[in-house]
Amino acid sequence: MPDAPLTPANTPVASPRPSACPGLWRIVSARDGGICRIKLPGGLLLADQADAVAAAAERFAAGVIEATNRGNLQIRGIGSDHAGLVESLLAAGLGPRDAASDDVRNLMLSPLAGHDPSMLLDVRPLAGQILELLQGTPRFHQLSAKFAVQLDGGEGVAMLEHPHDLWLSALRLEQREWLAFGLASCPADGQVLGAVPLEQGLALVRAVLDRFLELASPEQSRMRHLLQSCPVEAFIDGIGLHVRRDPAVLRWQRHACAQPWLGAVTQLEGMALGVAPPLGRLSPAMLRGAARAARQWGDGSLRLSPWQSLMLTNISAAGLEQARTELSALGLLCQVDEPLVRVVACTGSSGCAKAQAETKADAVELAALLGSGAPGSVHLSGCPRSCAVAHVAPATLLARSPGRYDLYLRDAHLPGLGALRATDLTLNEAGAMLALPTEHLDD
Ligand code: SF4
Repeated sequence: MPDAPLTPANTPVASPRPSACPGLWRIVSARDGGICRIKLPGGLLLADQADAVAAAAERFAAGVIEATNRGNLQIRGIGSDHAGLVESLLAAGLGPRDAASDDVRNLMLSPLAGHDPSMLLDVRPLAGQILELLQGTPRFHQLSAKFAVQLDGGEGVAMLEHPHDLWLSALRLEQREWLAFGLASCPADGQVLGAVPLEQGLALVRAVLDRFLELASPEQSRMRHLLQSCPVEAFIDGIGLHVRRDPAVLRWQRHACAQPWLGAVTQLEGMALGVAPPLGRLSPAMLRGAARAARQWGDGSLRLSPWQSLMLTNISAAGLEQARTELSALGLLCQVDEPLVRVVACTGSSGCAKAQAETKADAVELAALLGSGAPGSVHLSGCPRSCAVAHVAPATLLARSPGRYDLYLRDAHLPGLGALRATDLTLNEAGAMLALPTEHLDD
């Protein structure tokens, strides 16, 4: 987590909901230098753009690139030449339509959008319209840099647990495509508030954003803040759009995801390859390697995912194993049974002043103790802000001092990180506890 803006004067437009988060122009300082966040349209990064990011990270920073949990990238360790960095990224087409719209480009899609065999619809055309709406409507630039929308086409590879201010999820009723939606929740277990026909999807997004800005005070930067003072029914009643709210919609539930996001993944036609940088960090060589593989065996594009991973789409059958071998040799994780896939960690004390422990190094040590397991099931957090994941992981180790952690287990009935199961554990003790079946953790 960054400490404070390095160059607030660089922020293109003053927002009523100012952010301390990094942006393209808002390079914020951390212990290890500046951080610049590059927002990608629906997570899409072309191979040439990946090369440009790698080059910029080497030329203007310390060569550390991070995949974020919202399908974006950031460069860390940036030196003093902010203008040079931003210019190089803009030249690669990695900027917004205009500077004022950088922050609002928060639209999350499945990394297999348009390619997933389980999808009910290809959301990419609507996603393009929503991004245009966000960028092209000055009023929406008043939204917080964290205000986020998810568009889910029913894909088998989808993050359904990240809370979003507004989420839309495809469903089919009476041989017609609809978009169910919810506010300040997530598709996995959020309350469905209604549905509109697919053709009304863009109008729904516009109406919800307008309604939010009409009602929210500048202090209410997120939908969850507004809904504490405005009943959700009153919010919906005022959006000025006919919303279907019968039992077939209100009782609808998004089906669980069936496809893995790592390794060989089946597409509608052909195959995709999911790869993950260890603990979300890419070296320039890794990013260049992924770009090279995407050009050589795929469609020349990479999709960043909310699991801090990349997906290469339309990989030829002949290229799949070769791509996996090459990327694995560069240090990218390509199989679900690799121990490092199991752990997620925030920046830790080498890069963040708030951290109580060196979480990334500890995560490497812990992964070796744990061996393989469910991807992303153990989260090490340097402080309660929990930057590394946007949802609650099955197990969270919250740092209390260097090398020592409190262990929480997710509990749907408890807020926050879940149930506190043990305190002040060493990594060895945490590893031993996490190796037990969950029910034994009560002993
Ligand atoms: S969660 Fe980690 S990176 Fe975020 S503020 Fe806390 S210590 Fe820093």
